[in-house]
This record gives sequence, C-alpha cells and structure tokens, in this order.
Amino acid sequence: MEFRDFSLLVQHTKVRGFTDGLERGELLASRCTTCGATSYPPRSDCPRCLGSEFEWVPITGKGRLLTHTAVFVTPRHFTPDLSQVAPFSSYAYRPAAVGIVEMANGLRVMGWIRGLAIEEIRIGMELEPRPEILPDGRATVTLYSGER
Ligand SMILES: [Zn+2]
Repeated sequence: MEFRDFSLLVQHTKVRGFTDGLERGELLASRCTTCGATSYPPRSDCPRCLGSEFEWVPITGKGRLLTHTAVFVTPRHFTPDLSQVAPFSSYAYRPAAVGIVEMANGLRVMGWIRGLAIEEIRIGMELEPRPEILPDGRATVTLYSGER
C-alpha cells in the first residue's frame, strides 16, 4: 500500500509497517524496544526516551468511547460520488460520526463510527477499532459496535 492511499496521510517511511498492517487488516501500534513505551498512532521516535527502534504490536478488542462528534462535510473519498445526483456538489450532506476510544492498555484510537446512528452513540460504550479499505482503495480506521 502506498502512503498516498492512507486517509490519515502517514508519509514517514519508518512507520511503513503501519500502513502495511492496515492492508492486512491489522491495526498496529509501535513499541519502543529500548523502554517499552507504546504509541498509537505509531511514532518514528520514542516520546519517552527518544529511541528510534520499534516493534509492531497489534491493537485488538474493544475500547471505551471517550468522545465523538458529527462531521457534516466528510472527506470526498468517504462519500459516494453524487455528481450525477447533485451536479453542483461533491459532498453527501448526511453527517458521519467520528470518535476516540481508549483501549485497555491506555492507547487512544480515533476512527469513523460504523453501525450506529448518531443518536445511538453514547460516551463509555464499547467499540472495536478496525482497519477498513474504502471502495476507492484508501485505508482508514473505523470503530464498530457489532461483532465481526
Ligand atoms: Zn523509548
């Protein structure tokens, strides 16, 4: 997967393993091999000891929703092509929800909330972060409420 295909615009080659993981369906954090500090999104240098050697650790399971908001003008690659339906607009005016979950190990993961209407979303609910390849081939992170 090319970096330009990742919706969060990760462009640093030291975190290439992250986008490769997304392509395989794995959400990965970086863990410093010197001090053990774990970071998500992955870092190219350790925020604790400034080391630059890392290993990849998977982020699995559900996290607790800390916050969320509604996005009314979503990214173009995340919306259907409405050029035939609404020739003067490239955007869908249906809001999408984005949130941040805190995992059991304290890592915080942001993603689009899937499978819930905005009115159903509650702080503290459990959501599972997962990588998702969008129809245009770009990768993003989504937070699911249901089972796989
Ligand atoms: Zn470190």
